[in-house]
Amino acid sequence: MQFLSTRGGAPPASVGDAMRAGLAPDGGLYVPARFPAAGYDAVPRDAELATVAERVLAPFFAADPLAETLGDVCAEALDFPTPLTEAGDFHVLELFHGPTAAFKDVGARFLAACLARLAGEHERTVLVATSGDTGGAVAAAFNGRPGFRVVLLYPKGRVSDRQEAQLTAWGDNVLSLRVDGDFDDCQRMVKEAFGDAELRERACLTSANSISIGRLLPQMAYYAWAATRVFHATGKTPGFIIPSGNLGNSLACIWARHCGLPVGPIVLATNANETVGDFFAGGSWAPRPTVQTLATAMDVGNPSNMERLLHLAGSEAAARREARAVRVSDVEIRDAIAAGPKRYGRTWCPHTATAVRAWETLGHEALERPWVVVATAHPAKFEDVVEPLVGETVPLPPALAELMARPRNFVEIGPEFAGFAELLGESSRPDHDRVPLA
Ligand SMILES: *Cc1c(COP(=O)(O)O)cnc(C)c1O
Repeated sequence: MQFLSTRGGAPPASVGDAMRAGLAPDGGLYVPARFPAAGYDAVPRDAELATVAERVLAPFFAADPLAETLGDVCAEALDFPTPLTEAGDFHVLELFHGPTAAFKDVGARFLAACLARLAGEHERTVLVATSGDTGGAVAAAFNGRPGFRVVLLYPKGRVSDRQEAQLTAWGDNVLSLRVDGDFDDCQRMVKEAFGDAELRERACLTSANSISIGRLLPQMAYYAWAATRVFHATGKTPGFIIPSGNLGNSLACIWARHCGLPVGPIVLATNANETVGDFFAGGSWAPRPTVQTLATAMDVGNPSNMERLLHLAGSEAAARREARAVRVSDVEIRDAIAAGPKRYGRTWCPHTATAVRAWETLGHEALERPWVVVATAHPAKFEDVVEPLVGETVPLPPALAELMARPRNFVEIGPEFAGFAELLGESSRPDHDRVPLA
């Protein structure tokens, strides 16, 4: 399978080359040239996630050297549980049982497993802007892997304390940059670095943001897995409600449906960042400055994966037919978290809470078919928001408890590209300029 740039100005690439490049050379994002029919039957009834992933992803890897190792990659990267549980009248797809307790572990671990098998002789720099969870997942996935260093940028004061601990707990081959700005600043700086051909070459840059095709593809696997289970159990195609920010997770679901998997309607739950909501309500695509909310990992004013959705659909009107959006305010997020234990016997993280609230707005539609609420993070990552609302402590999963105990390492920088580029181009051993802070 070949991968094309959304902007049409780059030669087609194989999946491995597209992963290595991150962004296409014309500044576009890589997308599969087509969506091979996976069919309902391609996915065995009771198969594990890793097996489903291998089946569904095989056509995208065909003719690439990675195809041979796809089975190993899936087994290595998708080795933690993704239970499909029930709460009230909906299913919950729990994607937060990986090393950093958010769904981004799936994509990050898959990408790392692929890139490690593609490694060349030069050390690669994995560059990532994060609004909270990506950076930790990427750092965890690449930490200690020879041939890689990770440089991650996160917005100062806009991630939770526990997220910050996850972003800075690494040392070794991970350089954490705390940027005095917002997520869009971080994303802009990363894009600018990739746009600088000389720097890209010198630092051997590779992307691990949700612009990386290596993160998007494996996310299709859990939709395939969950949709098939529900379809076999009920004979109906489930709808999915997805807490959305940069639209990577929801795009993977849309792609899974294009492969013919039994995915019904797709609802994007968004927070007070109105860009996506306005678009699906009929407005033209108009990125806005980011607004800070309780669901911080969804605070994105200019979601980059919209470019992929528009490319897939061909027009704004057609893109609006792929999904719809439900906006959820901070007040509603708080209500949904507070009501969780009583109403559903569950404690939701602020992101998952947006999807639960969106389900509650469906009215009669909620009972017409099965619905899957996608739970994107463990509530213990956001204890400062969640615990006062539910009135009890949320126990920390063991992997997180271990990370919290480590010292924090980061360098603070401004939102200007020049200073960042200098750091990036320097010695590929970040240990020299790291300031350890307890
Ligand atoms: C990243 C993230 C989201 C948003 O996912 P996108 O792919 O950026 O739309 C939602 N919830 C959590 C917990 C996240 O970390």
